[in-house]
Amino acid sequence: CELRAPNQMITVFDQLTRRQTLARHEMALLLEKSIELGELQLHLQSKHDIQKNITGYEALARWHNSLLGWVPPSQFIPIAEEFGLVSHVTRTMLDKVCQFITANPEINVPVAINISSRDIEDPHFITQIQNITSKYGVAPQSIELELTEYSFADDHNHVMDKLNELGFMLSIDDFGTGYSNIARVLECPIQRLKLDRSLLTDITDLKKQRSLLLGLKTICENMQIALLAEGVETLEDFERLSKLGITEFQGYWFSKPCSANMIDLSLLKSNNKALS
Ligand code: C2E
Ligand code: MG
Ligand code: MG
Ligand code: MG
Repeated sequence: CELRAPNQMITVFDQLTRRQTLARHEMALLLEKSIELGELQLHLQSKHDIQKNITGYEALARWHNSLLGWVPPSQFIPIAEEFGLVSHVTRTMLDKVCQFITANPEINVPVAINISSRDIEDPHFITQIQNITSKYGVAPQSIELELTEYSFADDHNHVMDKLNELGFMLSIDDFGTGYSNIARVLECPIQRLKLDRSLLTDITDLKKQRSLLLGLKTICENMQIALLAEGVETLEDFERLSKLGITEFQGYWFSKPCSANMIDLSLLKSNNKALS
């Protein structure tokens, strides 16, 4: 049959969205299967103080699938969120982190996992993470939860307070990318604020960047919140940030994320030496 142009466009559009939806749905099915088969991998990236001692680790999920190859978290986490799989991902990652902590008693710094706002909305979330940590006998103080601002809606206050009461460390991830409502952030019981790399790259006026960072530093200091800069890629980044009084860093310049099986824990020993 002969289609007129607008209809044709609609048909093409429909086919495209249908194909994209199918692709997302297929990816979700593969992801679900991979989680069940234990194919999600735990990678870790260290966090450092100004003397370069390790102050913690961040757990990052890695997914390799035989059909899709390596899929980055920026692709599969939104799919997990959309198809209700994110609590599966979170539980798997927390389980792996607890295994890692119990297998390596020399770890004396918190290990952070990334939490989706979907987790915070899940009424079973707190019980689930308590069950996993107590199964391994891991203290909540060893676990840090990295949340983005989207998890900080007013009606989630009780979740934050409860997690804090239980002893989990809380931090805000990617600060500077969302609404960055500092007043709202300060109402929450957090221990650490993680500045997104875009705060460094997008504010090219160094004077403005400097006053913003100095302001944030003062606020965090007064509130006893640690301030960490993410995405420190070069010596120059590190020097600039440390001059502004930033005291914690994470980024390729210090170390790239690395498989939990390959991580060099002897680096933690130099921490202890530095302390003694
Ligand atoms: P994020 O939590 O902000 O994690 C930091 C991301 O920055 C990681 O990307 C890390 O590899 C990357 N990164 C580290 N150092 C540098 C640097 O110097 N420069 C630059 N440009 N990037 C650096 P990755 O592993 O691809 O993860 C991306 C995002 O996916 C994470 O951002 C987090 O939001 C999410 N994600 C990763 N794993 C999980 C997970 O297990 N659960 C959930 N819910 N989200 C996860
Ligand atoms: Mg994070
Ligand atoms: Mg981040
Ligand atoms: Mg990020």
